Amino acid sequence: MRIAIIDAWRERWRLSPVFQPERLASRADYAAPQRSKMLEQRRTYVSNLTPADQQPFSVPGYCQPCQRQVALQVDFAYAYPVDGRLQPNWRERLLCPHCRLNSRIRATLHLFERFVGARRRDLLYLTEQNTSLYRWMADRYPNLTGSEYLGSEFQPGQVDARGWRHEDLTRLSFADASLSAILSFDVLEHVPDYPAAARECLRCLKPGGVFVFSVPFIVEAQETLVRARLGSDGQIEHLHPPEYHGDPVSDAGCLCYYHFGWELLDQLRDLGFVDVTALDYWSAAHGYLGGNTLLFTARKPAVSMISFRTVAQT
Ligand SMILES: [Zn+2]
Repeated sequence: MRIAIIDAWRERWRLSPVFQPERLASRADYAAPQRSKMLEQRRTYVSNLTPADQQPFSVPGYCQPCQRQVALQVDFAYAYPVDGRLQPNWRERLLCPHCRLNSRIRATLHLFERFVGARRRDLLYLTEQNTSLYRWMADRYPNLTGSEYLGSEFQPGQVDARGWRHEDLTRLSFADASLSAILSFDVLEHVPDYPAAARECLRCLKPGGVFVFSVPFIVEAQETLVRARLGSDGQIEHLHPPEYHGDPVSDAGCLCYYHFGWELLDQLRDLGFVDVTALDYWSAAHGYLGGNTLLFTARKPAVSMISFRTVAQT
């Protein structure tokens, strides 16, 4: 909350650009008629920025972690075609030349400090450790725990010779109701049983604690696209061409099982999360561009429904 007040003050005195992400609860919110012109303008804006020669270029923007105006760097690594033309992967590029953080991570830090309002000493868990995001957060939040998925031969909570902690999102080593926030960025799509992972997060969060996450998301789709699934024999069945994402601890890459749709938000509500929200953080001023500028937040109820039921029965 203190950070939000400082942000408001900085924006008021034009020390940083105004940042007003939109809160969306559903596909209907995303595709509301009053947003269609704005979404079209975003597509035109990034299309006009993209050079035809596919050479690296820069875009002016305000880096919130560095609190200064910079020339954000864009190249065509991880580029993909949009309407037959190669577009930069805006989410993973737009690197600040000082902190080297990309658009997705700069926005994540910005939103976390603005909307979650974690205190410095809060117990936080980030589902990554060998990354620039972990290092940036660990400097500011001394009680942050990071982890990587090191393999089924490791026990949850076990630390290897490199100092990396192993956690499996479907069976975390943390105690019930012990964490103020769990942050997980582009991980759930690699967990075949992602509802089990969400249930584990709910178990480990304190009442009122927040699950903050991002995933590959088809903004137009209600239903999740299942790309691969595990058979009862443990074999992987590919329903679409296999897609592998970068893995911070291995060169092999991680299989992507899902491109999520808006039904994910309803599934989290059914599991017991409240205030399940997509924050649409697109901002030209901050260099948060591209087609998927959504960060999701979901809160554990402040009063445990389980204890409420117990009290009601007695
Ligand atoms: Zn920076």
